[in-house]
Amino acid sequence: MRSRRRCAHIIIRPIGVSSGTDALLAILMALGIGRGDAVITTPYTFFATAGCIARVGARPLFADIDRETCNIRPSAIQECIEKTCQPDASGAWKTKNGEKLRAMIPVHLFGLCCEMEALHKIAERYRLVLIEDAAQAIGAEFPFPERTAKAGTMGDAGLFSFYPSKNIGAAGDAGMVVCQDDELAQKLRTFREHGMEPRYFHHFIGGNFRLDEIQAAVLAVKLPHLETWAAARRAAADFYGAELARARLTEKIAVPAEPYRERGLTNHHVYHQYVIRTPMRDALREHLSKREIDTAIYYPLGLHEQKCFAYLGYKKGDFPETERAARETLALPIYPEISRDAQRYVVSAIAEFFS
Ligand SMILES: *Cc1c(COP(=O)(O)O)cnc(C)c1O
Repeated sequence: MRSRRRCAHIIIRPIGVSSGTDALLAILMALGIGRGDAVITTPYTFFATAGCIARVGARPLFADIDRETCNIRPSAIQECIEKTCQPDASGAWKTKNGEKLRAMIPVHLFGLCCEMEALHKIAERYRLVLIEDAAQAIGAEFPFPERTAKAGTMGDAGLFSFYPSKNIGAAGDAGMVVCQDDELAQKLRTFREHGMEPRYFHHFIGGNFRLDEIQAAVLAVKLPHLETWAAARRAAADFYGAELARARLTEKIAVPAEPYRERGLTNHHVYHQYVIRTPMRDALREHLSKREIDTAIYYPLGLHEQKCFAYLGYKKGDFPETERAARETLALPIYPEISRDAQRYVVSAIAEFFS
């Protein structure tokens, strides 16, 4: 793979696919990741991230999150590798069960980029393919010392979701892979059509991961608004922050961390979700629900505690920050058109709860 640091002339190759899930599945298949391999990711994400790793036959390895950002913590990845893997004679890192550590999939959760500089170093040190799950973070930026980079373009491949609830939503399911490597892009294009090229000649076993034309048409109309809508979400987040501080609620609840705010980026956060934290989360949620305020919990359970992943052998207590986040986080209503009155109503209801 080309060096990720030499990026003067980045050519992004977009490949429209049927969903964010299928985008990740296609990436893993095209990279030949499967049985006998292991892939590191976060246990605090939408199921699809780890689900796809398992579906191709690889083992998901989890590393805990950072308390402030809820993104995967680079030092936790390092610890996970050093504790559970060993290099073989060829220098490839293997798990205790002999699986080869192939890739890592950081997730830019809620619209905030992971610490990509640190993740690049880890990817290089352990020779890992870096796949960005940017399903929630289209347009989000990360400040490298020498340049600003966009979510999805900082690794070997990235994926976006256009599920209707995402920052840019189609009318149904849709997704996209982006990568810089032309060969990989070509392969992905054939993988989304059963590995077929030309018609009825199959080089690989791919799938039907095609982007529906109706969805493509909807996206063509909506994509030009990406920046405006991201700015509107950020303005809404700023307003929540200011109102919560004014009501002295920031002593009672934690508001989203903005680690890149002062770094001169436009999209230091794209606020797919505005997530607050309090140990009284469940009671607060019930109170807000009585005031007809819809909130959501992303996510109520770490993936290491999901029934379907019991075979991985993790147990409660393995990822304390993930488990804590699962108990404390609450997503407030946020979308580009949200009115300041609606936001004031939300903040006053939170104030009422804590009074
Ligand atoms: C939504 C989402 C996906 C999957 O995208 P779909 O288009 O719903 O298949 C994957 N990862 C994360 C983090 C997501 O939020």
